[in-house]
Amino acid sequence: MNARMESSYAEIREGVRKLCAAFPGEYWRALDRDRSYPSDFVRALTEAGYLAALIPEEYGGAGLPLSGAAAIMETIQHAGCNGAACHAQMYIMGTLLRHGGTAQKQKYLPKIAAGELRLQAFGVTEPTSGTDTTSLKTNARRDGNHYIINGQKIWTSRAEHSDLMLLLARTTSKDRVAKRTDGLSVFVVEMRAALGHGLSIRPIRTMMNHSTTEVFFEDLRVPAENLLGEEGKGFRYIIAGMNAERVLIAAECVGDAKWFIDKAVAYAADRVVFDRPIGQNQGVQFPIARAYAQMRAAELMVAEAARLFEAGADCGAEANMAKLLAADASWAAAEACVQTHGGFGFAEEYDIERKFRETRLYQVAPISTNLILSYIAEHVLGLPRSY
Ligand SMILES: Cc1cc2nc3c(=O)[nH]c(=O)nc-3n(C[C@H](O)[C@H](O)[C@H](O)COP(=O)(O)OP(=O)(O)OC[C@H]3O[C@@H](n4cnc5c(N)ncnc54)[C@H](O)[C@@H]3O)c2cc1C
Repeated sequence: MNARMESSYAEIREGVRKLCAAFPGEYWRALDRDRSYPSDFVRALTEAGYLAALIPEEYGGAGLPLSGAAAIMETIQHAGCNGAACHAQMYIMGTLLRHGGTAQKQKYLPKIAAGELRLQAFGVTEPTSGTDTTSLKTNARRDGNHYIINGQKIWTSRAEHSDLMLLLARTTSKDRVAKRTDGLSVFVVEMRAALGHGLSIRPIRTMMNHSTTEVFFEDLRVPAENLLGEEGKGFRYIIAGMNAERVLIAAECVGDAKWFIDKAVAYAADRVVFDRPIGQNQGVQFPIARAYAQMRAAELMVAEAARLFEAGADCGAEANMAKLLAADASWAAAEACVQTHGGFGFAEEYDIERKFRETRLYQVAPISTNLILSYIAEHVLGLPRSY
């Protein structure tokens, strides 16, 4: 499929494909039934160095640009695996890298690169404020050499499988700042030491296997040295990281779309009904062809967003559009794949229904389609602000 785009990072893609071949559908199905974490898969990716792709070589990582990480995530999804178990490490790490002090980077990055520490938890969303991030209620109060944190996060994925969490909390209340985006700060929370000492985690069972949780902070003491960058400037640090997150998630959606399209094409060519392959009927061909066209457009937008990100240019519009187009493409491909398979699309052993549930998430997280559309309407097209 589309040899020119796939030729970028060909060696890395080949390595990831080989690694993923050891984790076939049976592996994911068993985990899905029990809603358990793919520890062996994440360990294999870590040991092969893929999760340290974006960490600079001086800290023990591969020092790849964002497009290299995107190629890794896309290939994982294209192979039928699920990178959601560990993708956060790739994009959270950028916030630490760009805004962390030298001591923080030296303390954490080499250990993350070596697989000794997992940075997989990203605590932004809260139950009451939802997408309205600047209204979040979790607060951090300075007390000598510490901050004392109180509040609650929701949908903090992988919290039970992470050593570190990047946490966004209010350090100055909303009514005492000039702009609502001011007064928010980012902390690195060392979760192992905090568990049972002000930090508790409650898993949430969801329609797919995602290891997501609710996290509660009750007078959790975090050393002041774990504040990332400047106090009160955290929102802009998180936003910069979110562009990388959108590009990587979009690449995953492109990989999902390719997986669904491959499956649908193979089945449509093979399945004979009324004495001819079902793929000979245009009613079967067209949804797959349309999903392919959507996937290719999304793939090009992912490449453009990554190019701008790597050049240090503003890529907000392109990162958002890549996420929107790719999530729509993967969903269209998922729908076409189920429909092409008829009843078999619903059978667990085909993996289609599992991937269908997994890829549905990206219409909502990490940012919902509506919010991207309002970003494009207001920030790109200059329409009046709706909120
Ligand atoms: C499985 C899973 C994993 C997740 N992992 C993480 C994680 O690791 N860390 C983290 O911080 N968060 C995580 N999230 C949270 C995710 O980013 C949010 O669910 C998402 O941003 C939507 O926020 P919300 O659920 O609060 O919806 P709301 O903000 O309550 O919105 C509900 C609906 O209303 C729509 N809506 C709201 N306001 C507007 C508006 N002004 N105009 C038009 N439509 C609007 C939204 O588009 C959405 O469809 C995860 C979520 C899920 C489901």
